[in-house]
Amino acid sequence: MTQKIALYPGSFDPVHFGHMDIAQRAAKIFDQLIVAVYENPKKPLCFSASERVTMLKTALAELENVTVCAYTGLTVNLARSVGARVLVRGLRVISDFEMEYQMALTNQQLWSEVDTICLMTRYEYAFLSASLIKEVFMAGGDISQMVHPVVREMLLRKHEQRRAEGGEPPRLSL
Ligand code: ADP
Repeated sequence: MTQKIALYPGSFDPVHFGHMDIAQRAAKIFDQLIVAVYENPKKPLCFSASERVTMLKTALAELENVTVCAYTGLTVNLARSVGARVLVRGLRVISDFEMEYQMALTNQQLWSEVDTICLMTRYEYAFLSASLIKEVFMAGGDISQMVHPVVREMLLRKHEQRRAEGGEPPRLSL
């Protein structure tokens, strides 16, 4: 029997509980889930692709049928090359839908065999976004209910690295 392989692409800068929940639920639906870190999205990044891969690998380590990789270029090219005909995405609010709808149709134009499946977020993660987490962290807020401990550690390390390079350190309450 052929394996059902799905691809969950995103920037994951950094991965948070909302992303992790989508990966956990998709891993129950498909035989194999590949979480794919888009290296160069058109938005400012805090972490390199390899840092984002490391965080995802640690955060999702308990999911045996999940692998993590980084990619550049078209998502559908990666999907084709790994044999995934399904793209998984998460939906929080109506404004996500417009973007996901446009991307799903574009990907279908690029490769007619590919389908996009959107999973609704859980109620408790509906407000979570990677940019909000970075903002809360930089303002000294507690993000332990939003991210895996590895993400908090890597944000701290990044902050210390920036401070050592002469940047203004934000006030932190950990
Ligand atoms: P993008 O891929 O658009 O750069 P992200 O990397 O933040 O955005 O997110 C990857 C995927 O996870 C997207 O489909 C996004 O809608 C979804 N997602 C982001 N935050 C949440 C959340 N809190 N709950 C469920 N899904 C989410």
